Amino acid sequence: MTKTEERIKQLNKNIKETCARCGRDPAEVKLVIVTKSAQFEAVKDVINLGYTELGENHVQQLKKVAAQIDEYFEGDESNKKKKVRWHMIGHLQRNKVRQVLPFCCMIHSLDTLRLAEEINTAGAKLNFQAKVLLQINASEEPQKYGVPVGAAIHLAEQIVTMPNLKLCGLMTMAPLTRDKKIIRRCFVRARELFEEMKGEKIVGPEFTELSMGMSGDYEEAIEEGATILRIGSAIFAG
Ligand SMILES: *Cc1c(COP(=O)(O)O)cnc(C)c1O
Repeated sequence: MTKTEERIKQLNKNIKETCARCGRDPAEVKLVIVTKSAQFEAVKDVINLGYTELGENHVQQLKKVAAQIDEYFEGDESNKKKKVRWHMIGHLQRNKVRQVLPFCCMIHSLDTLRLAEEINTAGAKLNFQAKVLLQINASEEPQKYGVPVGAAIHLAEQIVTMPNLKLCGLMTMAPLTRDKKIIRRCFVRARELFEEMKGEKIVGPEFTELSMGMSGDYEEAIEEGATILRIGSAIFAG
């Protein structure tokens, strides 16, 4: 067993145990494996193990790893490279939208009206509906990306009118702290906003995803309702 395999096994065990503890079905919790800190060897391991939902937070890096995967799995009969689905999880500049959109299955980091308009325009040119998550700054840290909680509903209302965007849920990042109470408060806030948007029918039936939880805080995220975990260093670090 490779180190990568061992770590994924342990991660899945923890996810399962956490779900059992809070009465959730582990099938409701999807894993996006964040490759930004990974050696390509380890990325290959992950794909060979059947994990194909991958995430990157920089456009250039996403394109680079996608090209490496293409090259490596060229001619592979099981067509592994075709199954890889990319999630853009990091801050996205408007001038990079057109480059990255054809590569990714979901953008987690939509946080301004202007970015929404740009993605909508690019989606129209490519003739598809881009799946997006609204990134919220649930911890209200001033230096952080994400729309403030108080402005999220208004922005969501604007996004749902755009024909080439599909608003599929919310994303948030907890503050960098060891204080689990602060982390949990951030996740609770995101979940409450998520429920409010659904309850008030601001969003459609495709609004199902709550992307939160990273290597250091995924257990709290699961307990507070995450449907997508974004995990990197727990699998790749060291
Ligand atoms: C790097 C990153 C992650 C993964 O973080 P780890 O702590 O390595 O698991 C998740 N989400 C975003 C937005 C990131 O940039």
